[in-house]
Amino acid sequence: MKKVAFLDRDGTLIRNAHYLSRPEQIEILSGVREGLQLLKQYHFMLIILTNQSGIGRGYFSETDLKIIHTELLGLFAQSSILFDAIYYCPHHPDEECECRKPRKGMLLTALQEQSIDLSVDFAVLIGDSDADMGLARNARIAAIAVPPEKPLLVTPDYQAQDFLDAATEAVRLSGRSD
Ligand SMILES: [Zn+2]
Repeated sequence: MKKVAFLDRDGTLIRNAHYLSRPEQIEILSGVREGLQLLKQYHFMLIILTNQSGIGRGYFSETDLKIIHTELLGLFAQSSILFDAIYYCPHHPDEECECRKPRKGMLLTALQEQSIDLSVDFAVLIGDSDADMGLARNARIAAIAVPPEKPLLVTPDYQAQDFLDAATEAVRLSGRSD
């Protein structure tokens, strides 16, 4: 059985900058390194799913995003934290694409490309928004919320105090499903 943590990026792993477009704006939130290390210790796959409508809105390019993600992966690698994959939705909300969270497109691509089978493997989603909680609901996986910027309308299965608390809950749930 695989264990998978689907992770939101902005507001969950790093501080929510308004349409982050430059690598120097990246600020890893407190408890995130520790939480990711805990998940790794328990052999979780780490997969980022992030809505990046700033591309569709013309605020930054796909190249800018790739530079940011290279920087982001480098920062975490310094703490020996390696991600399995990053998926992003570049579309404007008006495009009504299938990949923008809370829709399942990115997650379904991840399942296929990473050979994850939710009927046997264990997965959680850790995020900070209704889009994240909605995606977890749509995919029928556990929804764990870190403190949100805006009050959540979609109730999470667990409201964590910070990312380390969220990761601890993910580990606890995975132990129950063994
Ligand atoms: Zn999309």
